[in-house]
Amino acid sequence: MKNETKVATLSTEAKPKQDSMRLPPRYEQCALEASWQKNWEQAGIYCYDPDDHLRPTYSIDTPPPYPSGEFHMGNALNWCYFDFVARYKRMRGYNVHFPQGWDCHGLPTEVRAERTFNIKKRDVSVDKFREICVKLTTEYVEKMKTAMQSMGYSIDWNLEYRTMDPEYYKLTQLSFLQLLKRELLYKGEHPVNWCPRCETAIAEAEVEYVHSEGTLIDVHFSTEKGDLIVATSRPEFIPACVALAVNPTDSRYMGYVGKQAVVPLVDRRIPILKDELVDASFGSGVVMICTFGDKTDVRWQHKYGLPVVKLLDPQGRLTREGGKYAGLAIQQARKAIVDDLRNVSKISGSKPISREIGTCWRCHTPVEILSAPQWFMKTKDMTDQIVEWTNRVAWVPDFSKNRMIEWARSLDWDWVISRQRLFGTPIPVWYCRKCGQMFAAKDEWLPVDPRSQNPPAGSCPGCGSREFVGDHDVMDTWMDSSITCAVHAGWPDRPEEFQRLFPADLQPNGLDIIRTWDYYLMARHLALFGKAPYKTVLVNGMVRGADGRMMHKSYGNYVEVTEAIIKYGADSVRQWAAAGGSTGYDIPYRWADVEYGRKFLTKLWNAARLILSSLEDYDPTLPTPKLDLLDRWLLSKLNNLAKTSTDAFENFQFNVATESTRNFIWHDLCDQYLEAVKYRLYAEHTQEDENRRAAQFTLFHTLDVVLRLLAPICPHITDALYRELWSGRLKARSIHSDAWPLPNEELIDEESEKKGSIVVRVLSEVRRIKSEKRLSMKAPIKRLRVESEEDTANVLRSHVDAIRQIAVVEQVEIVAIKRGTGEVSMQKEVDIHLSAEF
Ligand SMILES: [Zn+2]
Ligand SMILES: [Zn+2]
Repeated sequence: MKNETKVATLSTEAKPKQDSMRLPPRYEQCALEASWQKNWEQAGIYCYDPDDHLRPTYSIDTPPPYPSGEFHMGNALNWCYFDFVARYKRMRGYNVHFPQGWDCHGLPTEVRAERTFNIKKRDVSVDKFREICVKLTTEYVEKMKTAMQSMGYSIDWNLEYRTMDPEYYKLTQLSFLQLLKRELLYKGEHPVNWCPRCETAIAEAEVEYVHSEGTLIDVHFSTEKGDLIVATSRPEFIPACVALAVNPTDSRYMGYVGKQAVVPLVDRRIPILKDELVDASFGSGVVMICTFGDKTDVRWQHKYGLPVVKLLDPQGRLTREGGKYAGLAIQQARKAIVDDLRNVSKISGSKPISREIGTCWRCHTPVEILSAPQWFMKTKDMTDQIVEWTNRVAWVPDFSKNRMIEWARSLDWDWVISRQRLFGTPIPVWYCRKCGQMFAAKDEWLPVDPRSQNPPAGSCPGCGSREFVGDHDVMDTWMDSSITCAVHAGWPDRPEEFQRLFPADLQPNGLDIIRTWDYYLMARHLALFGKAPYKTVLVNGMVRGADGRMMHKSYGNYVEVTEAIIKYGADSVRQWAAAGGSTGYDIPYRWADVEYGRKFLTKLWNAARLILSSLEDYDPTLPTPKLDLLDRWLLSKLNNLAKTSTDAFENFQFNVATESTRNFIWHDLCDQYLEAVKYRLYAEHTQEDENRRAAQFTLFHTLDVVLRLLAPICPHITDALYRELWSGRLKARSIHSDAWPLPNEELIDEESEKKGSIVVRVLSEVRRIKSEKRLSMKAPIKRLRVESEEDTANVLRSHVDAIRQIAVVEQVEIVAIKRGTGEVSMQKEVDIHLSAEF
């Protein structure tokens, strides 16, 4: 190596010798990332090893997403969190179980199939409809999988599953049969939330509340004591009105309670009740009880034993009970009834009203309440048990636990698990044609589809008949996806594996699905296995657009994940996910954050290439050379960083881990140390030059550690650089198969950090002066005068030679001055004053 040529290439943008390194001079994320993804997949380095009984296991219960075909920024954030943990734990020596599934059944796919092919469920056969859904799902899964792979997630694809596959839904059916045997399921006729467009029951968790504008009209009901006025926004329910109610403290109406009123238009005589749930300040203070306008109606009907008028059919049209309005859709009926009430002078006023209404989570149609035979799981009785186990699980952040508890306590009804749909796991029961008795499948028959299959054996336990009719309904898709913890762990066929992998160590999911995902998992596994399915719940917030609103296509603030990857690379997008905000809180998507991530990677790439070029003759097996102050300063800071980063990963604070590592690399390593050691690396030297070897030792060790600290966040660039660092030395394997760098306490040296920071301060001041004068950093300074307090001056005096060489100074003058009491605290910002003569 010739001194001259090296000195000429000392900036971090320098190009080292081409033939000595396989790394391209410029950081090209796209080619680089794709090739690493292939490499990892082929080498199988993310595979869970069931035969490895030495390493402890770490299992992650990843939520299987609905295959929508789109992997959006919110998904990207979710999966980044899972992956940060998976990669960190793998490096900590765990046998990580990181599966990926697809929640295929249910309304999202069915509605999409109906809209894509312009059909309704009744237009085609079950088999045809299923075939369309399977085809759509398969396409969408592939698209999402490609996006996941291009983000570099360390998923073990050998563990991939689809809930629509027979081997999976067989387990859903098995869990159904087990709950049935334990009498935790029942079939009964109860009012449920119903979507008239999807023509199915839906669970409380599937109702989305939105603001809606409507009209509140005052309707007259005649009584023997004169008219009572009822304010209602749903006059179409008048044919189903079974009572009026007032608040017991409302003195205006005490004379009416116990009397009867006449329902206008239908002339039905109904009782006038008093109930404390009536809001006396709403409208006139008199409400009508209809079957069923809302959930309170359901409660009142039950409480007072009122008759049920089944006004709506499954498509949301009025039934025969609607009299002359039979056959009309809800909106048409509303108009017709209001017109007729006007004609008979039963309306005395109206005003606009804004209120919350429930809508179908999938198609956004207003939800109605319908009573029909359905299957239920007895979740209401489980509330205390669910709350108790929720409290025993760790929640990150802690406040997310309350979401779960509040939700569990807010539920009014048992979980309705049957759906009047087609694309779902069939309910494995039949009913006797003769006596109607239910006949459940045997475990060994599974999977079965009673819609098209007869029971392979057996006869009705009630009457001995062999004639059955299969249950026509399918299960709520959450019945499929709320047993994943057990399925991942090998239930029911691998009990030994189950002991190791259940409960899952980590349950990561978005804040928005605590009430579904976390709740149903908890309920199902408690019912089946008697314990919580997860040990820690890691919650991520939502992604907001640059405008602060939720990211949504209709808001114009939507960003495609693939667009971001193509522009800046996955390692940049991943840095945004890690550093964009605190775990559990919403984070904004800002292009500037991703751009910064990309700039950082370029900085790291160039610095690493410079370091690597200076390490060509370095042998890491030689004993540690004698380190100088700045070496000890950097190594101490490095090991403090390892401490911070380890703590941060243990506590899922990915932003802290990322920011601290980026700051260290950018400022301490690149701005300070690299600038300061160049003269040592490239000065005239011999192999034995210990000072040079100490700098090489420090750089080698530092690069090795920072790459590993950064590996969970930026897996591609770190693997590329790490293999280059170790190539031809001891080990040359993937960084992701290597160990996490725990802090080396011996290298943490507070005194060196303090003294080193004084020297670093002087050096950066010199750089600032040169840069202000628009001089090269190598421009020689004739005389440098540094004024400081005594203690600082003493530190500088013992390192004057280093300062002279690093800052290119002919003569350094250190002057001690007394200020104030003369007492100097090392904790204080170092007080120095510099003047330079060129
Ligand atoms: Zn719907
Ligand atoms: Zn029978």
